[in-house]
Amino acid sequence: MEQRNFRTARTAVRVHELTDGMLVHARNAADSSYLAQTVWPSRFIGEDYLGHGCLVVTAYAVTDRVPEGVAKGAEPLLTVLPANYLRDTAAAAEAHRLGQCSSYCRFPGH
Ligand SMILES: [Zn+2]
Repeated sequence: MEQRNFRTARTAVRVHELTDGMLVHARNAADSSYLAQTVWPSRFIGEDYLGHGCLVVTAYAVTDRVPEGVAKGAEPLLTVLPANYLRDTAAAAEAHRLGQCSSYCRFPGH
């Protein structure tokens, strides 16, 4: 699919237009913090276009905060999980089930 020209675009990036390049920052933030990142469309289109990396802005999902620079009236596009999040969570759940929890186990029942 051909990409819109965001230097002349009048509407923010949409979820089906996201590329790996646009999500690099969200992935890095999620991986380094171990916290999911919510991705929003930015207002940096048209005359304010700063490059593909700036078409989205992110915030930690747990804070439920709307980050600076979100396009007016926009809703979140998606949430990026830290690398290995599902694998690590599954492993922690299995350890908990077996009573082999780590000291930072987050599952209830201790
Ligand atoms: Zn446990």
